Amino acid sequence: MMELQLDFQLLFEESPEVLLVLLPDAPRFTMVAATRSRLQVTQATREQTIGKGLFEVFPDNPDDNSADGTANLRDSLNRVVATRAADTMPIQKYDIRDANGNFITKYWSPKNIPVLTEDGSVKYILHRVEDVTELVQANELQESLRDRSSAMENEVIKRSHELAETIRELRAANLKLGELDVAKTNFFSNISHEFRTPITLMLAPLEDALNDSVQPLSPANHHRLQLVHDNSLRLLKLVNSLLDFSRLEAGRIKAHYAPLDVAGFTTELVAMFHSAADKANIKLTIDCPKVSEPLWIDREMWEKIIPNLVSNALKFTFAGEIAVRLRELTASVAIEVSDTGIGIPPAELPRIFERFYRVTGNNGRAYEGTGIGLSLVRELVELHGGRVSVDSDVNRGTTFRIEIPK
Ligand code: ADP
Repeated sequence: MMELQLDFQLLFEESPEVLLVLLPDAPRFTMVAATRSRLQVTQATREQTIGKGLFEVFPDNPDDNSADGTANLRDSLNRVVATRAADTMPIQKYDIRDANGNFITKYWSPKNIPVLTEDGSVKYILHRVEDVTELVQANELQESLRDRSSAMENEVIKRSHELAETIRELRAANLKLGELDVAKTNFFSNISHEFRTPITLMLAPLEDALNDSVQPLSPANHHRLQLVHDNSLRLLKLVNSLLDFSRLEAGRIKAHYAPLDVAGFTTELVAMFHSAADKANIKLTIDCPKVSEPLWIDREMWEKIIPNLVSNALKFTFAGEIAVRLRELTASVAIEVSDTGIGIPPAELPRIFERFYRVTGNNGRAYEGTGIGLSLVRELVELHGGRVSVDSDVNRGTTFRIEIPK
């Protein structure tokens, strides 16, 4: 057999293992040999490594308060010297400086193996590591993702419980509100009925007394009873509007649509205001030309819609004119009730169709009012599939426009 002259140093240095050879000269642990792989992973040159103390070249990362890499390694090396047995360390975080001197995070799986002389004393320590940084970081990422997703899951579960609870509470509250609403509507409806009967019963004898030619009233008493009569009528009107409203609320108004000559009927309804307009010195113009076809309209509702708008116009107009105009459009009929009255401030316009809403400080001719009229008009017009809108200029006048589909 031929004796080969092997270059063991070269063979060692080119081994793919990450190996460092140390002297057991604690506490310095001088580095005396290193494989190229070792120099590569620690980003140190041979000159920076060989002959230097291990911990001088590889100190702890000063920015990492919890760094214990050097202490653990030192313990392990001391153990190897003392026991002369190999020592496998748990995975260590031991940051390494890059070419610019900045520390980069590194995780290592190290093993320290004693190389003994014939007499059994420690001559060298082989320090072998595996770079497990990527493995550890992948694990950390996975764990943090797992933590985050389970935290999110818990949050979602908690929130959906809260949501379910809120929905339950809302349902209960809604039910309660619904019950209260029905009770309120019934109360309104009953009470307006109860009010109406005595007022009607008062009106008949009052009219008899006022019109009695056999035993005529004295002028003073006639005047007094006339006042009583007028105000009873007013009261009746208010009670009626309350009744209409509560019936509508209770859904008790059943519409009876029938073909109607809308121009003729509107003219008739507006004409009833002639004498009141004359008395107030307001010009009342009715311009309602015949429509080419009858419209399906509920007569009783129309009897509330039109007079409501005209009486409002009269109530809030002190001079000038009230005009009711009907125009036939292709698919609908539009009716406008305009006045030259006090108008409605722009800020109030969006609210006047709300129930019980009244413009504050807007004093009309008569002081009574409930704020029901316009909301009733809107609901009735909408029952016809129509729309109502308003246009107004303070001190110049107001125009209400309703449009009913043919
Ligand atoms: P009410 O007349 O009973 O107060 P309405 O619902 O009919 O209730 O009207 C609501 C409010 O809208 C009135 O209080 C009044 O301030 C305002 N309004 C209605 N019509 C007119 C009008 N033609 N001109 C000026 N203001 C009006």
